[in-house]
Amino acid sequence: MKNQITGHTELLTLMAYPIRHSSSPAMQNEALSYLGLDYAYLCFDVDQNNLPQAIDAMRTLNVRGGNISMPNKIAVMQYLDRLTPEAELCGAVNTIVNDDGVLTGHITDGIGYIRGLADHGFDIRGKKMTIVGAGGAAKAIQVQAALSGVREISIFNIHDQHWTRAQETTALLNGQLNCRATLYDLENLDALKREIYDSDLFANATGVGMASQKEWTYIPDPGYFKPGMLVTDVIYSPPKTLFLRMAEEAGCDTMNGFPMMLFQGAEAFRLWTGQDMPIEHMKEFLKI
Ligand code: NAD
Repeated sequence: MKNQITGHTELLTLMAYPIRHSSSPAMQNEALSYLGLDYAYLCFDVDQNNLPQAIDAMRTLNVRGGNISMPNKIAVMQYLDRLTPEAELCGAVNTIVNDDGVLTGHITDGIGYIRGLADHGFDIRGKKMTIVGAGGAAKAIQVQAALSGVREISIFNIHDQHWTRAQETTALLNGQLNCRATLYDLENLDALKREIYDSDLFANATGVGMASQKEWTYIPDPGYFKPGMLVTDVIYSPPKTLFLRMAEEAGCDTMNGFPMMLFQGAEAFRLWTGQDMPIEHMKEFLKI
């Protein structure tokens, strides 16, 4: 059933900058339209300069909710009334729900990744994962993996501005989240190969493989991948990064960033509308 904008239509927003390239408006509006729900999801160019006014506007205009993306995922927390425990643990928000003027910040990236794994037939409980990355996407995945029962996580990162965050996340996982975690320098290729071979799941949670780095990966050769293991990438454009192509060449099962994107959106959709996103229809729509 196709929607028509009426006087009753409720607004959902995506606030980020730059954001016009995002797949979320097409995905969310298709799902809303498919279920005949009277909402419209629109993009707004919002950076940290106009973020406080934009959040105020959500209250003033009684916007039902929205998504938050870069560069606002951390900065937005200070303007909200409540945070879920997951958002507190991740120190970031990607979804806002407005209940009669009370704005709650959620993070659905991590659960989106874990639901993507489950949809792929992979149960993370009791497994060991090796993951490269310590930024926003990586931390959301690491925290949710621990909450979902992963046995052990080996984290690799380069020595850049994210290193301190990687150390903090490792301490959080070992302490509060009761999950064994070890941090390694990504330059330690012997440790990388050893940890990958000791894991059930290997994940890229960096932007390496996108745009100018399309034909580059930090993996020296396909021999680093353990044949038969599941290898995932957070990137969905391109749909098959060099990282995933090498993993396939090594005989691994692979999953790109589309399921994480779909399921993080599905979680947000349920929080705003109370309805489940029509997943099978959305897979066809997104050509996943
Ligand atoms: P971020 O900037 O917070 O973190 C970037 C990470 O990449 C850091 O760990 C950094 O150390 C690492 N890195 C940067 N250059 C590197 C290099 N040359 N070699 C190795 N590591 C390097 O970014 P983010 O928000 O975590 O996003 C990371 C990726 O995840 C982006 O491509 C983003 O589009 C994607 N993402 C996908 C989804 C999804 O739903 N599929 C959701 C969120 C983010």
